[in-house]
Amino acid sequence: MGSKFDICFVASEMYPFSKTGGLADVIGVLPLTLHRMGLKVCVITPLYGRLATSEYSPHLVYEDINVGYPWPEISTDVFKATFHGLPVYFIDRGEYFDRRYYYCTHKGDYFDNCERFIFFCRAAMSLMKKLDSPPKVVHSHDWHAALINSFIYYGKRHDPYWKDTSTIFTIHNLAFQGRFSVRLFWDSGLPYEAWTPEGVEYYDSFNLLKGGIAHADLVTTVSPSYAQEILTSEFGCGLEGILQKRSHDLKGILNGADYTVWNPEKDKYLAAGYSWDSPQAKAACKKDLIDKLFLPPRLADRPVLGFIGRLRTQKGIDLLLEIIPQLVKKDVGVVVLGEGGAEYEAQLLDLMERFPGNISGLVGYTEEMAHVIQAGSDIFLMPSRYEPCGLTQMYSLRYGTPPVATAVGGLKDTIKPYPDADATGFIFDRPDSALFLQALDQALALFENKEKWREMQLRGMRADFSWTTSAEAYLKAYKSLGYAEDKKKISGKTPSDVI
Ligand code: ADP
Repeated sequence: MGSKFDICFVASEMYPFSKTGGLADVIGVLPLTLHRMGLKVCVITPLYGRLATSEYSPHLVYEDINVGYPWPEISTDVFKATFHGLPVYFIDRGEYFDRRYYYCTHKGDYFDNCERFIFFCRAAMSLMKKLDSPPKVVHSHDWHAALINSFIYYGKRHDPYWKDTSTIFTIHNLAFQGRFSVRLFWDSGLPYEAWTPEGVEYYDSFNLLKGGIAHADLVTTVSPSYAQEILTSEFGCGLEGILQKRSHDLKGILNGADYTVWNPEKDKYLAAGYSWDSPQAKAACKKDLIDKLFLPPRLADRPVLGFIGRLRTQKGIDLLLEIIPQLVKKDVGVVVLGEGGAEYEAQLLDLMERFPGNISGLVGYTEEMAHVIQAGSDIFLMPSRYEPCGLTQMYSLRYGTPPVATAVGGLKDTIKPYPDADATGFIFDRPDSALFLQALDQALALFENKEKWREMQLRGMRADFSWTTSAEAYLKAYKSLGYAEDKKKISGKTPSDVI
């Protein structure tokens, strides 16, 4: 049984099947948008033990495809589901993917992550060879799928199957590179010549992300500002050299927001629905948030600030924790949802105990509470040190919760800063707690001016980050790699018609 695809996505997460962050959100909507535009698209992703499968019931389509890593006889089963018409293939190898977490536990990364994702990429290559014809473009994402680019780059030299296939590699976060011991390179199946500073070698370590950058035909990242920033030593995470070398083939394409999932008018998790032309019910959502978190009812009349994200220095959680005692003096509510650094989780719980009337911290991962906080907060906090794109600020804009954010990456590209007439949020120059507090003071002052605040909320709610523009930019990128639309196949609908 086979199929013919123009574009094969290869990624380690896809919402609603699996998710740890923004990558999953993107893979849950971009391929579907392209599929609905008429392209023949599929997604290849791991079959995790935590997979939310029941609704889409994946079924076995290939049994025992030879993968040959790390031992010659190792094989994979492949399951397939149809997600709103989009074919999704799941690589199934229980001992690699049927685990409690995706990549790490509280004790650190799984010791065999390199082996797991070499296996995943090799299994994806084996699966693609089973298709009716080679995909025209393989679009891989982040370090977990980066090796696909290296395999195809070298594969073209001896295997005619890949000769007309182009590759595009999207970096969602340059800090996560997949760096491992040289020992693992020798078993990866890459030829010896890949072991160079122009290839996968990085100061004697095996760097999977670097291979993706070096070997893909086109490299993209998820916002125009981040595409510029990563060429510098400040944001390049040590890879600025190879990125500068590839700068002619590097593009920044801003992510979109999936308004079928993130829309306060039709959000199944909210106590009441609201929209820019009927925003009154946001107050009911605020009350619901306060009730759910056992915060005092008086906070309904005070500003409530929300934070959702990984509790890591990237997200500036340390800056927020530092200023919480000063925020409490202003009698505001602060709600934090996240998991990550054990020291930040502990500090958060400690602050909750010290200031039970103002602070509520939820340590963990809950999709429902992410929606409830977006809707129930007044102000959204994003003091990131760097932000490749950031999706939560786009969601907060739609939920009428103006963001206060650092002037980095995608935050700069999506938030119009106060005091401009068309402002949708507040931006501060550098990740610095004093500057963060100053920006928050501006936000709190404007919050008191009900009319002006309402105007800012409505401007943000009307801002449109739907996937139309991004999907068209990716289509243009595929065309630049030689993908030619089959006019008969294109439905004539734009993504905005169908999403
Ligand atoms: P990241 O850098 O983590 O990818 P983004 O802002 O791009 O950040 O996307 C984060 C996504 O993960 C959003 O959908 C957000 O709601 C979700 N998210 C992050 N942390 C949590 C959590 N603790 N619980 C539920 N959802 C979360």
